Amino acid sequence: MNPFSFTSASTVETALAQIASRPPLAPGVGKFIAGGTNILDLMKENLMRPARLVDINALPLDGIESTPEGGLRLGALARNADTAYHPQVARRYPLLSAAILAGASPQIRNMATNGGNLLQRTRCYYFYDAGVPCNKRKPGSGCPAIGGLARQHAILGASAHCIATHPSDMCVALQALEAVVHVRSPGGARAIAFADFHRLPGERPDIDTTLAHDELITHIELPPAQAFAGHSAYLKLRDRASYAFALVSVAAALDLGDDGQVRQARIAIGGVAHKPWRDARAEALLAGQPAEAASFEQAADLLLHGAQAQGVGFGSNDFKIPMARRAVVRALMTAAAGTVTNTGEPRLGEEGSP
Ligand SMILES: Cc1cc2nc3c(=O)[nH]c(=O)nc-3n(C[C@H](O)[C@H](O)[C@H](O)COP(=O)(O)OP(=O)(O)OC[C@H]3O[C@@H](n4cnc5c(N)ncnc54)[C@H](O)[C@@H]3O)c2cc1C
Ligand code: SF4
Repeated sequence: MNPFSFTSASTVETALAQIASRPPLAPGVGKFIAGGTNILDLMKENLMRPARLVDINALPLDGIESTPEGGLRLGALARNADTAYHPQVARRYPLLSAAILAGASPQIRNMATNGGNLLQRTRCYYFYDAGVPCNKRKPGSGCPAIGGLARQHAILGASAHCIATHPSDMCVALQALEAVVHVRSPGGARAIAFADFHRLPGERPDIDTTLAHDELITHIELPPAQAFAGHSAYLKLRDRASYAFALVSVAAALDLGDDGQVRQARIAIGGVAHKPWRDARAEALLAGQPAEAASFEQAADLLLHGAQAQGVGFGSNDFKIPMARRAVVRALMTAAAGTVTNTGEPRLGEEGSP
């Protein structure tokens, strides 16, 4: 049994004081718990052993509000379902609604929070198996995925220490939308550009993000993105139609002129790297080009430049490279044709839901 202390906080200041204080029962750092859909699984599997759990569910951080700049502020504790079905998100950021609704299941989305979604850990099968080494769990112990089963693993940005991927759908859309993550710590507040929030594994795959252990995500800011609302698409390719993580996913958004030419493009790919993958050069290449397959194929080639397969034989992920290329083109074609507002299955508890 791993002892840990459990406290609850009703103000941000109390939560920060609790996470910074020395836990009485065990050495090591504390963790916040929000929806608990990831951290509790990790604790039950003995993969994470926080010395303290600080329950933040009572903090007043579940609002979704417009910002004076014309963007939207998503509370860290707003549930994924509340965010996806929020009328302002659905209307102004349909890419984000679609990405959230492509993830998990209705029950999990009702529980999972926006802050927790950003910090969910990889789904690498070796990471979840406490009986094998893993550099992400214990730096220096080894990476059995390299040369092993790597079907779900990275084709971009991997290192000799870890080839895991980030599993979130929501984060792929947030990367494309250039969200900003706002955090508080006992030392003050800071804002982190989404592109700088998640890390590539390098020599420290145990560190997923640039967030310090005593920092609390308070909200996620979406900059104005009206130009993209009419032409966006989230495409998720996976082994099952629901309740499965992406092999490859693409968040694509286009700002199109009346002449059908691309004014601006945004493309992020999920399931291919340790963080949602974006390359500004691919987007710049599309500016001024006709919104058609030939232009999109060039952008896809640039995005996947340097992609490398991992694993061996049947466990290899070599199929992901052509799959990602085709997915980028298809997502851009779908976006060009116009956003399809697809809220997936009816919301749990609403008429027509299971
Ligand atoms: C069966 C299953 C299928 C799933 N499928 C998908 C999928 O297809 N796509 C997808 O994107 N996701 C999927 N998920 C993941 C799910 O979206 C995440 O588990 C969820 O978003 C985590 O949110 P939470 O509030 O439950 O986080 P928690 O489990 O409470 O916390 C997760 C981490 O975030 C930290 N944390 C939480 N809030 C804050 C905060 N405000 N500030 C600082 N730290 C914080 C915690 O300390 C912890 O380290 C799936 C999960 C399950 C169990
Ligand atoms: S890919 Fe990363 S998470 Fe998976 S076993 Fe290797 S080090 Fe661990």
